Amino acid sequence: MSIPAPPSTCQDCPRLAAFRAECQAKYPSYHNAPVPSFGPIDAPLLIVGLAPGMHGANQTGRPFTGDYAGDLLYATLTKFGLATGQYQQRPDDGLTLTRCRITNAVRCLPPQNKPETKEIATCRPYLNGELDGMPNLKVVMVLGLIAHKSVLAALGMKQSAIPFIHGQMAELDSGLILASSYHCSRYNTNTGRLTTEMFEDVFTSITERLDA
Ligand code: URA
Repeated sequence: MSIPAPPSTCQDCPRLAAFRAECQAKYPSYHNAPVPSFGPIDAPLLIVGLAPGMHGANQTGRPFTGDYAGDLLYATLTKFGLATGQYQQRPDDGLTLTRCRITNAVRCLPPQNKPETKEIATCRPYLNGELDGMPNLKVVMVLGLIAHKSVLAALGMKQSAIPFIHGQMAELDSGLILASSYHCSRYNTNTGRLTTEMFEDVFTSITERLDA
């Protein structure tokens, strides 16, 4: 079984396609295409980030890889036994995800890291594909408010149904658990909004659910 992914030449979001073309001209060695999800489809945990960073996932073609946010994310996944190998900020570092898959709410690099509402909606069918295509899915972890909102919309839920609260483990009617965390971005970690301890606490709660 496979999960649908956007074509490398996706033109569904004209602004993002134009920005991609600009990046392609400036950085021809970069991936410069929608970044595919990473990790096994039969995983019980799906982590949903925001969008690729310019010199990170947009360069390497693997979510969070080379992005500042990836340093904390992959270190934490390794600590909790959800990744094996040595994360080295490159897609051929041999890192393997176990029981976990990573995707982004928006697959293409947005200018200033800020996708527009319309772009988040346009990319949502691919998020739906992930949610529908993972047969053992138990926990969806959202990194930040945009991912939180997009997952609620993908699940056909009202935005008011589950407000974003860092550390919240919300059990949905379907039995799926929505685990919300502040995004592990440079801004959030530098300002202390998200500490390593806070992030690890969320993973403690998640792995308890995975093991239940
Ligand atoms: N890199 C990603 O792939 N996603 C994010 O949300 C941030 C950095």
